[in-house]
Amino acid sequence: MADNSTQSFKAADLVIQLSPSLKAKPNVVDFGTVFTDHMLTMEWSLTEGWQAPLIRPFGNLSLHPACSSLHYGIQLFEGLKVYRGDDNRLRLFRPMLNMKRMANSARRACLPAFDESELLECIRRLVEVEQDWVPVSDSDSLYIRPTFISTEASLGVKKPSRALLYVILCQAGSYFSSEAGGLSLWADPKYVRAWKGGTGDCKMGGNYGCSLFAQYEAVDYGCQQVLWLYGEDHQITEAGTMNIFLHWINEDGEEELATPPLDGIILPGVTRQSILELTREWGEFKVAERYLTMGQLCLALKQQRVKAMFGSGTACMVCPVGTIVYQGKTLNLPQHNQSPLTSRIAKELTDIQYGRSLTDWIFLV
Ligand SMILES: *Cc1c(COP(=O)(O)O)cnc(C)c1O
Repeated sequence: MADNSTQSFKAADLVIQLSPSLKAKPNVVDFGTVFTDHMLTMEWSLTEGWQAPLIRPFGNLSLHPACSSLHYGIQLFEGLKVYRGDDNRLRLFRPMLNMKRMANSARRACLPAFDESELLECIRRLVEVEQDWVPVSDSDSLYIRPTFISTEASLGVKKPSRALLYVILCQAGSYFSSEAGGLSLWADPKYVRAWKGGTGDCKMGGNYGCSLFAQYEAVDYGCQQVLWLYGEDHQITEAGTMNIFLHWINEDGEEELATPPLDGIILPGVTRQSILELTREWGEFKVAERYLTMGQLCLALKQQRVKAMFGSGTACMVCPVGTIVYQGKTLNLPQHNQSPLTSRIAKELTDIQYGRSLTDWIFLV
C-alpha cells in the first residue's frame, strides 16, 4: 500500500460549492461566535492520500463516535487574521509562519504532511469568496481558524489513517476589552501550561482545554488571565494564550526588551517573532530571548527598573500588563495603560497590517 502521507492536496484542484443563501452580516460581535457562509475542507486517508480541497457551505461535521480526535485529542489549530486596508485591499500578516507552525504541530500530532503554500492558496481562495465579511475597520478583522483533526474511527491509540483539515472564518473585534489599568494576571506555580519535551510549542487543543481550570482560579483571585510559571525558580513563560515581554533595565544596567527563549515550552508566536525583528531593526536597546524569573521581576520592580510588561498575540497584538498577583501580594506594573514602547510597536504592526507601510510581511489576498 502506498504511503501518501508526504503528498499534498493542490489548490489547483479546488472545488467551490457556493451556498444558495447567505447570512446577514451582523455588526462585529463576540469573538468566535459568528461564522461566515462557507468553509474549506480537505480529507486525507492513508490509502487514498489527500482528496481535492473543497469550499462548501458552512455546516456541521459528521464524525464517528470513536473518532480519535475526540478521544485522544489528536488535533491542532492555527489562528490568523485578514485585515481590510485603507485602500480596501485584504491582507494577511506573515501567513506562511502560521502554515509552517501548523505543519510542525501536525508532525508532532502524527497527522499527515501537506504543502504549506498550497494550504495558504486554498485559504486565500476561501477569503476571496468571503471577502464581504472582512469588516471595514481598522480595529476589527476576520479571524481565520485552520483546524486539523484525526477522523480515525477506532479506539486504538495509534497514528491516524484518516484525517480532516478544515478552515473556518469568524468575525473578530478587539479580543480583550481594553480596560484602563492593563491586564491582571495570577501567577501560581501549582499549575503548569507546558513542560520540557511536551507539546507547549504546538497549537494543540489539549494545551488550551487543560488551562481552563487554572484560568477560572485566576478569576476567583480577581484576575483576568494566568501568568504561567515554570520550574523551581518560577520562570515567567506566557500570559494566558499570549507570549510575554518585559521592557526593563536588566541586571547589568542595560535597557532591554526580553522574552523567554523558544526552548520547547513557549509557543512560537508570529507576533512575538515580529516584535523581536522590529525592535532589533530599530537597534535602540538590547533585545534578548532569555529566561526571566519572578524573583528577578520582583527585585526589578522594587528597584524601579521595570518600564513595562506586555503580552503579545494575534488577538490583541500587544496587551499591557497592569498587575500580577503572586504569593499573596499584588505587584503593580508601571505604564500599564500604554507605554511609549508598546504604543510604538502597536502602531508599527497595525500600519503594516492595514497597508500603511510597505513590507514583505504582507500577503495580499
Ligand atoms: C497562539 C498563541 C500565542 C500567540 O501566537 P501568535 O502567532 O502571535 O498569535 C502565544 N501563546 C500561545 C500559548 C498561543 O496559543
